[in-house]
Amino acid sequence: MPVKDRQHPLDGSNGQGRLLLRTLADTHTHTARCGHAGGEDEAYVLAAVERGLGAIAVTDHLPLYWLPEEQRDPTLAMAAHEFPRYVEAVLQLGERWRGTIEVLLGVEADFVAGAEGQLGELLSRYPFDVVLGSVHWLEGWWVDAPGSVARYRRGQEEVDAIWDAYTSTLIQAARSGLFDVLAHLDLPKKFGFRPSRPFAGRLEEVVAAIRESGCAVELSSAGRRKPVGEDYPSLEVLHALATAGVPLVLASDAHAPAEVGFAFSELLRTLHGVGVAQVHLFRRRQRLAVPLPAPC
Ligand code: ZN
Ligand code: FE
Ligand code: FE
Ligand code: ZN
Repeated sequence: MPVKDRQHPLDGSNGQGRLLLRTLADTHTHTARCGHAGGEDEAYVLAAVERGLGAIAVTDHLPLYWLPEEQRDPTLAMAAHEFPRYVEAVLQLGERWRGTIEVLLGVEADFVAGAEGQLGELLSRYPFDVVLGSVHWLEGWWVDAPGSVARYRRGQEEVDAIWDAYTSTLIQAARSGLFDVLAHLDLPKKFGFRPSRPFAGRLEEVVAAIRESGCAVELSSAGRRKPVGEDYPSLEVLHALATAGVPLVLASDAHAPAEVGFAFSELLRTLHGVGVAQVHLFRRRQRLAVPLPAPC
């Protein structure tokens, strides 16, 4: 077989492969509304079409609902008044691109212990296809903000304590019933600060909670663009999730159109490597299995 024909479908030039990919979705992408992403909404959709994807979920950051208005950083999430306009814009994109690519209405929502009622109310307002749950906020500070690096630098004991607190909140998020997908599952590794043991020794507890919750987990290439330089979650965690039969989705966490579908061919190889033969996508918050293209 000529080398060209053996190219991975996501590498682009193999017409047959592109057809297969038309079933795959990028389940995590942003828009400029959050204040730290760039490009027109439409450019993200066009990039997904060019990558040969079948669907793109637009999942911008939900307003920072649990904070008083004056404490909401406009460079972290869309403003409250943008929320209805965001929904309208994504629904219109879906109409405009119908027949070419599926544009799914999603949102990335922070889980904050104690604010579940507020979040549930916000999510009930619109007909979301998919809701991503993220733990970025831990009792007054941001797990993944550059300003938090000093905290991680205090030493391994502190790093383990952070991971332990994060893990407790993540388990609450899984059990909340608010989310379809848990995003960047091992986020505190972003700057390269790893726990002594995965999830501070609570990996089994995490996997069991997720399996019981029915939540899916994203395999996200975003970590490749961060200091840690690897996917979320790590291979060890992914393997544990796959073994437990936790549903997985593909995610780039694109904050620019060029990042849509980022490194998806590598993500597919990783999934094959842990014996996963299908991924999932969500429509109207119903999960749908999609078989993966054959390994190459
Ligand atoms: Zn973001
Ligand atoms: Fe996030
Ligand atoms: Fe995101
Ligand atoms: Zn994110």
